[in-house]
Amino acid sequence: MKAVVLDAVNKISLKSVDQDKLQSNELLVRVEAAGICGSDRHILHGTYPANYPVILGHEFSGIIENAGTSSRFKVGDRVNVNPNIACGNCLPCKTNLVNLCRNNIAHGVNRNGGLADFVAVPETQLFKLPLSLAPEVGAFCEPIACCIQGLDLANIRQGDSVAIIGGGVIGQLMVQLVKKAGAEVILLSTRQKSRREMAEKLGATHTIDPQNSNSNDPFIGTAGVAPGGFDVVLECAGTKETLQQSLEIVRLGGTVILFGVMPQNEVFEIKPFDIFVRQIRIQGSFTGSAVHSKAVDMVAEQSLVLLPLITHLVGFEEVPKLLMGNPLSGEVKTIAKPA
Ligand code: NAP
Ligand code: ZN
Repeated sequence: MKAVVLDAVNKISLKSVDQDKLQSNELLVRVEAAGICGSDRHILHGTYPANYPVILGHEFSGIIENAGTSSRFKVGDRVNVNPNIACGNCLPCKTNLVNLCRNNIAHGVNRNGGLADFVAVPETQLFKLPLSLAPEVGAFCEPIACCIQGLDLANIRQGDSVAIIGGGVIGQLMVQLVKKAGAEVILLSTRQKSRREMAEKLGATHTIDPQNSNSNDPFIGTAGVAPGGFDVVLECAGTKETLQQSLEIVRLGGTVILFGVMPQNEVFEIKPFDIFVRQIRIQGSFTGSAVHSKAVDMVAEQSLVLLPLITHLVGFEEVPKLLMGNPLSGEVKTIAKPA
């Protein structure tokens, strides 16, 4: 079969490889579509820990090709994969924090992933999706699960004001989910105009180009979107600059969700007194494996707008070059499909 293989840091190619042998608890999935994500670039460049060689791709869906000994799935079923396989035995696993499993093994990171014609997947990781859906939408389940995790931690209430910083695919999904959570003011800040326009169609009540001002007045000034500060700020850009701004535009007693990922060794200065005196909550959010089934349900029920978020549809053969380069202009989501 063909697969996008990472042999070592910065050594990626599409090649012919043998299929993984099915273990007794596994089913064989024929991949229909796999999402490309910023983390794939981090893994490629060695700034996110992974095992080599590995077939990349942690956002994928497909059709059961061999159901093994399963009684829950049959050949021809469409399935989505929760790529994170928790151990079930460590302290986080035993205290309802499976996304923080210390022995987690992930498809596309530590074991073969979805940028391949076929993948062997443990039955515990599979979720049914209707055959009536477009095959590409299944690849959104994993990022949606991450967003749900972040919003569960944000505890958004009816009527809240929420600022989303960063208008990539995560920001666009957040706009939709924050609206469903009942927020009244939904601001998306991002530099690219096409992304601001997309967010307005998806439910953002306000958008701002952060390059247009060197103060936070358009955000929280007396004539700004949320005078005095936002109840919740979702940092979805992953830069020091946007984290700094998030801390500045949250209201007294408000919450900043640290969702964006910075390089592992990045250091950021804070004024502890400022956090103390303004009683700000800074909350991290890591993956979505604990809430993956909720994301699959939302995709199955078609309760989110997903197809317009796909700005680039490519074949597996284009993936190595694409990942070695920078994100494409206007890119929101790139989905890769087998030949
Ligand atoms: P993305 O496409 O890179 O989106 C981030 C966007 O933020 C950038 O493309 C950029 O868009 C915008 N940005 C940069 N500087 C900005 C500024 N000063 N003000 C406002 N916007 C700014 O990435 P993504 O896939 O949407 O993911 C977003 C972040 O979440 C990434 O850091 C990713 O690693 C992280 N993530 C976290 C989890 C988790 O479990 N917590 C899961 C998935 C992803 P413009 O060019 O339009 O400004
Ligand atoms: Zn565990």
